[in-house]
Amino acid sequence: MGKGFFNVPVAINEPVKSYAPGTPERDAVLKAYKDMYNSQVDVPMYINGKDVTTGNTRTMSPPHDHKHIVGTYHLAEKKHVDEAIATALEARKNWSQMPWEQRAGIFLKAAELIAGPYRAKINAATMIGQSKNIYQAEIDSACELIDFLRFNVQFMTDIYLDQPESTTDAWNRIEYRPLEGFTYAVTPFNFTAIAGNLPACMALMGNVVVWKPSNNQIYSAKVIMDVFKEAGVPAGVINVVFGNPGMITDTVLASPHFSGLHYTGSTPVFQNLWKQIGNNIENYKTYPRIVGETGGKDFVIAHKSAVAKQVATAISRGAFEFQGQKCSAASRAYIPSNLWDDVKKFVIEDVKSFKMGSPEDMSNFITAVINEGAFDKLASYIDAAKNDADAEIIAGGNYDKSKGYFIEPTVIVTTNPKYETMCTELFGPIITIYVYDENKYSETLKLVDETSEYALTGAVLSTDRYAIVEATEALQNAAGNFYINDKPTGAVVGQQPFGGARASGTNDKAGSAQNLLRWVSPRMIKETFVSPVDYRYPFLGE
Ligand code: NAD
Repeated sequence: MGKGFFNVPVAINEPVKSYAPGTPERDAVLKAYKDMYNSQVDVPMYINGKDVTTGNTRTMSPPHDHKHIVGTYHLAEKKHVDEAIATALEARKNWSQMPWEQRAGIFLKAAELIAGPYRAKINAATMIGQSKNIYQAEIDSACELIDFLRFNVQFMTDIYLDQPESTTDAWNRIEYRPLEGFTYAVTPFNFTAIAGNLPACMALMGNVVVWKPSNNQIYSAKVIMDVFKEAGVPAGVINVVFGNPGMITDTVLASPHFSGLHYTGSTPVFQNLWKQIGNNIENYKTYPRIVGETGGKDFVIAHKSAVAKQVATAISRGAFEFQGQKCSAASRAYIPSNLWDDVKKFVIEDVKSFKMGSPEDMSNFITAVINEGAFDKLASYIDAAKNDADAEIIAGGNYDKSKGYFIEPTVIVTTNPKYETMCTELFGPIITIYVYDENKYSETLKLVDETSEYALTGAVLSTDRYAIVEATEALQNAAGNFYINDKPTGAVVGQQPFGGARASGTNDKAGSAQNLLRWVSPRMIKETFVSPVDYRYPFLGE
């Protein structure tokens, strides 16, 4: 161990492939899609390097074709969760001592496996299981996950290089120890990349992990585990359990060895997890790290100087890509009265041009929302808007769950800036627009800041630099990722570290060294070369 200062490969963002007609990547992903769609996979849990089946299974179906079955997955009982914890703690003995360059090698290999032999498969799994169109699958399950894996290795070495000053007679060193105990990753359905990154980045830093994916993301979670296995993640380092989130969480959080939660998902679940950890605090051997990236009510505000076509595109892409199921999706917009006629015309044109259907037909821009619960919730907000006097639907407004959970991209215009859909996270293809008096920009900025409990992403569009400066100041705490003249979605690892504050999370910026710092507990080592032999200091002299 320790026989060189190794430079890691310089991390670069994985180029996004086009999937245009006639390209080899399009043929490859469509073939993978067909093969996977027309067969059934049985997904075991993965504990101590072994596939674990329980016989207690649930089926998996594509959201865009919910009667079609593509496989089953196995549900954990409490004893499986206990086993995952025990095995992780056992694996920690070796894994926490593994030289960092060996850990790096494993996860760099995982990145290359996804970039190459697993690319079509992980994209197809994400298209089938989470209903992403090919472009949304590519930027998430392939490129973003590859980027996380590559950049994290670079961030890890940046952290390790951060060392204190020393003197000639004493050498000061900081060791970035993994947390003592095991960590817990709880991941959402909407990004395959987040599902892979949350356990992987903790393991990269030397931790052992129990990972509970969302029941709506198990199809692509299986591909992630296949990649980790092939890349050489040793048995017990990342253990995957499926099933009842409450039971799994209760079991994990009851262990005195629980040392960190890496969570992404909705705000209420995170708040409950935090409370549960708080209630157990005296039982833990170490204060657990808590990182949670949660909900959003992300805004677009246009100044009267903005370009209407640019504003409309920020809305059409920002609100509706992946059916608005991005934590960063634009879901409330504030449009000045002078631009409204044009913005309205362009947005309606865009929405009318969207094609909706299965992701297998690559001309579809919009596919289904994740499950029936999401569908019913979104439909109820659309119904309410149809009946409320202060709301009007100007585009979309239809829904149909006969074959898949299809919600038409919907634009609500409200005269009430505090209308329910201006404040509540809906997590679907619905945006609400409030048209403001073009001369009340400052007042409207205040409104944007005060309307929602969240503070994840937001965008200002303007050609007037003074207006941009004013928004940047006034909205300082309203978004952790703030965009100028762009849509509020599409953060890229290494370029726009991601996370929000207020009810949107702990803002530990996934895709940056700041996040990785949460998964280590530094140990300061001071080595004195010539040790003193007399306690008396000179000032004690007579
Ligand atoms: P969700 O809250 O339904 O589920 C998230 C995870 O929590 C899943 O693994 C789920 O099984 C688990 N869970 C649910 N109930 C639980 C319980 N009682 N105890 C323990 N775990 C429980 O969220 P989702 O629908 O999968 O994802 C969408 C949400 O995630 C949105 O609110 C979105 O804004 C948020 N999100 C945030 C970010 C971010 O970076 N801020 C990124 C992606 C998604």
